[in-house]
Amino acid sequence: LVSREAKEENTIVHVKDVAIGGDAVTVIGGPCAIESVEQVMRAAEEVRRCGGKILRGGAFKPRTSPYAFQGLEEEGLKIMRIAGRFAGLPTVSEVIDEASLELASQYLDMVQIGARNMQNFRLLQAVGRARIPVILKRGLSATIEEWLMAAEYILSEGNSQVILCERGIRTYETATRNTLDLSAIPLVKELSHLPILVDPSHATGASRLVKSMSKAAVAAGADGLLVEVHPEPCRALCDGPQSLDPEGFEVLMKELAPVARAV
Ligand code: PEP
Ligand code: MN
Repeated sequence: LVSREAKEENTIVHVKDVAIGGDAVTVIGGPCAIESVEQVMRAAEEVRRCGGKILRGGAFKPRTSPYAFQGLEEEGLKIMRIAGRFAGLPTVSEVIDEASLELASQYLDMVQIGARNMQNFRLLQAVGRARIPVILKRGLSATIEEWLMAAEYILSEGNSQVILCERGIRTYETATRNTLDLSAIPLVKELSHLPILVDPSHATGASRLVKSMSKAAVAAGADGLLVEVHPEPCRALCDGPQSLDPEGFEVLMKELAPVARAV
């Protein structure tokens, strides 16, 4: 179902009034983790002001260490809903199991399956039954084929509102958090009709690299970006070093416009 042979024309995923996969480049921005009402409100305002179309923020955080901040859970989802309404932006947050999916679908407009859960087949099937738009991130060490087959699990349960997201893969390189696989963009476009985003924040792990990788992603044909934006990155509870501050996000959006127009 995910293949070009099955469906020739590009899929456009609608999240409220935002269309992903059409002509425009859609930017999704917001903090890694939802920390407080004030933090998400400020991030939402900036995202909106600079031309971002959807607000992101994690309420359930699958962290490497069990002692790291795990997210505000349902309280966080409530904050997201308030901030989204306040800024007039649709919202997306990661789900990690069926219980969090159930909760997130009550509060938000779209869900995300993170890299660590790309092959959580029960979760993929549950999202497939849920009929809510979903961002499916590429697994840390997943091949493009494995990633597309994970998407197939969702489509085969009846949900075709799937957006893929390249977020960097594990390689021997340690200078960046992950290695951004830019070639995945045209390859996925060749193989599938689904839209594809790039997450330059998790791909690089470094805010100073986010702008150039964003431009590269758009030039390579990405349908949009998923960017971490925090009002005060140095105080972030999660992923501060890779988060753009409001000024950084503003510059990114300005410099992205001509690249987006050119392709
Ligand atoms: C995220 O987007 O917040 C996240 C945890 O990303 P990933 O699953 O790609 O590591
Ligand atoms: Mn993060």
